[in-house]
Amino acid sequence: MFARSALRAAQPLRMHGRGYATESAPKGGSNAFLYLAGGAALAGAGYWYLGSTPVAQQAEAKLKQATGAAAKPAFTGGDQGFVSLKLVDVENASHNTKRFRFELPEGDMVSGLHIASAILTKYKGPNDEKATLRPYTPISDEGISSGQPGYIDLLVKKYPDGPMSTHLHNMVPGQRLDFKGPLPKYSWAENKHEHIGLIAGGTGITPMYQLLRNILSNPSDKTKVTLVFGNVTEEDILLKKELAELENTYPQRFRVFYVLDKAPKSWQGNSGFITKELLKTVLPEPKSDNIKVFVCGPPGLMKAISGNKVSPKDQGELTGALKDLGYTQEQVYKF
Ligand SMILES: Cc1cc2nc3c(=O)[nH]c(=O)nc-3n(C[C@H](O)[C@H](O)[C@H](O)COP(=O)(O)OP(=O)(O)OC[C@H]3O[C@@H](n4cnc5c(N)ncnc54)[C@H](O)[C@@H]3O)c2cc1C
Repeated sequence: MFARSALRAAQPLRMHGRGYATESAPKGGSNAFLYLAGGAALAGAGYWYLGSTPVAQQAEAKLKQATGAAAKPAFTGGDQGFVSLKLVDVENASHNTKRFRFELPEGDMVSGLHIASAILTKYKGPNDEKATLRPYTPISDEGISSGQPGYIDLLVKKYPDGPMSTHLHNMVPGQRLDFKGPLPKYSWAENKHEHIGLIAGGTGITPMYQLLRNILSNPSDKTKVTLVFGNVTEEDILLKKELAELENTYPQRFRVFYVLDKAPKSWQGNSGFITKELLKTVLPEPKSDNIKVFVCGPPGLMKAISGNKVSPKDQGELTGALKDLGYTQEQVYKF
C-alpha cells in the first residue's frame, strides 16, 4: 500500500531553465511554452505544448470548487522549469513494472494536470554527458475524487538498458527526481463524446486510466467507455484491480475486454492479438454520432490498430484495423 508520510517538510522548488524555449505566462494564470526535444531519445517525441488552456483553467476552477479553497497546482508550465519531487513510496505492479509515489512540494498541492496530460522527467547520472528526458502519464488524479492531494503516482515499465526506466526502478524512497509539466495531450471536457473506445497495450494503459477515471468519477459526465486492453500474459495486466472496481461501480458505463497474447488454459477472455473482429463487436460504431477511439501501446500495436504517430503534434495517417473498420482520422486519437 502507498502510505502517506505523516510528516512533510515543505520542499523548496529547484528550478532549471537550461535549453528550454519558454513563453512567459499570460495574465490570469494562463501560461504555456514549447518544449523542444534535444538530442535525448524521447520515445515518439519531438515537442510538446506545455501550459494552461481554457480546459486547464476549467480544471483549476473545478479543483477550487472541490476543495473549497484555491487548489495550488504543482505544475504550472510557463517558465516554471523543473520541480524536484521526493519519492515516498514504491510498489511492484508486475514482474517488470513498478508504481512510484512522488510527493508534491506542499501537502495541499494538486498536480494541476488537466485530462489528459503527461509530465516530463529529467535525470543526469554522474557519468552521463547529457540529461535523459522522458515523459510519463500520472495515474493519480488531481486529488479531486481521491480527496488526497499532495502526490502524483507513476506506473513505469523497466526496459533493459533503458536509462530513465532503469533509474526509476533503482530509486528508493527519500530520493528525488526532476519533473516538468504539464504536457497536454487530448483535452477532455465532460460529455465531449457520447461513447469512447480505448485500445491499450501494456503501459499504454496509463493515459487511458487517467481519462476513464476522470470521466467515471464525474457525476455530470455521462460518457460511456469501452476499454480493449492487450497484454502478453495475465501477470502483465496492470491496474487490474482498479479496472475491476470501476467496472463494478459503473456497469452501465464501463466495460473492459482483456486480450492475452499468451493465455493460460483457464483464461475466459480473448487470446492472441487484438483483432478487427473483436473491435467491430465491442467498440462504438464508426457511424455513431460523437464517438472517439483512443489508442496507446507499443509500436507494433499502434501499427496494427491505427498506424503510428509521426510526432506529438502530428497524429499521422490513420491506417490499420480502425481504418479498415471505417473509422475516420477525426474519430481516432493516438496518445
Ligand atoms: C506521452 C508519453 C507518456 C508515457 N507514459 C508512460 C507511462 O506512464 N509509463 C511508462 O512506463 N512509459 C511511458 N512512456 C514511455 C516512456 O516515456 C519511456 O519511453 C520509457 O520509460 C523508456 O524509457 P527509457 O529511458 O528507460 O528507455 P529508452 O532508451 O527510451 O528505450 C529502451 C528500449 O525500449 C524500447 N521502448 C521504449 N519505450 C517503449 C514502449 N512504450 N514500447 C515498446 N518498446 C519501448 C526502445 O525502443 C528501446 O529499445 C510514455 C511515453 C510518452 C511519449
